[in-house]
Amino acid sequence: MLTLKDIEDLNSSLMHSRPREILATVCNEFPRCAISFSGAEDVLLIEMARKLQPKPAVFTLDTGRLHPETYQFIEKVREHYQLDIDILYPDAQRLQELVQAKGLFSFFQDGHEECCGIRKVEPLRKKLAELDVWITGQRRDQSPTRVEVAVIELDRTFSTDSHQVVKVNPLANWTSEDVWNHIRMLEVPYNELHDRGFTSIGCEPCTRAVGPGQHEREGRWWWEEATIKECGLHVGNVREKSSD
Ligand code: SF4
Repeated sequence: MLTLKDIEDLNSSLMHSRPREILATVCNEFPRCAISFSGAEDVLLIEMARKLQPKPAVFTLDTGRLHPETYQFIEKVREHYQLDIDILYPDAQRLQELVQAKGLFSFFQDGHEECCGIRKVEPLRKKLAELDVWITGQRRDQSPTRVEVAVIELDRTFSTDSHQVVKVNPLANWTSEDVWNHIRMLEVPYNELHDRGFTSIGCEPCTRAVGPGQHEREGRWWWEEATIKECGLHVGNVREKSSD
């Protein structure tokens, strides 16, 4: 198990490195690592990882509430890279209990945490129990909750006393413009909802297009306050900021 100092040192040594170098170092040092795939950034991570190894480990969360375009996008990526994407699903019984008790849109009344907890956080927790490192497309410029995202960090949400999970964010220093310049240059697949004003795409009921000048993640859980807009996957961003 790494100490906090080891993780901070690794972060310091890689914080100005290019994403591909970060991926190469991490995948070499931690064989039990996988890319978490959902958005545009994550395809770039897959593209880079594919240049390091033919079949990088990739997983995605199917919450059951994604847009049809997102399912098509997942399939497009799977075919484009000939990848076995590990698709994670929520526990059917937990979901049934929630829906029977509160209906299909409880998040509009009592917030997204409970539904995201069942549909996203629990399946992810189960997956991360098999991994030492997960790789995400988080960037600092995405939202107020992500301005302090490190390149390498201890994942305090999913680490336990007996199992440490490190989160790696190779694109932390990139901007949205960097991402889209690379997507166009490399001609990698992207979710067609991006062409219709969706900048950050999550579940269908909880995502809407944003207008010019709006922040990238303003279309996510738009009925909630900006500083709590994390779905639980990266809830450490919220906790760490709010404890400042
Ligand atoms: S984003 Fe919305 S529908 Fe999806 S898991 Fe969270 S609350 Fe549920």
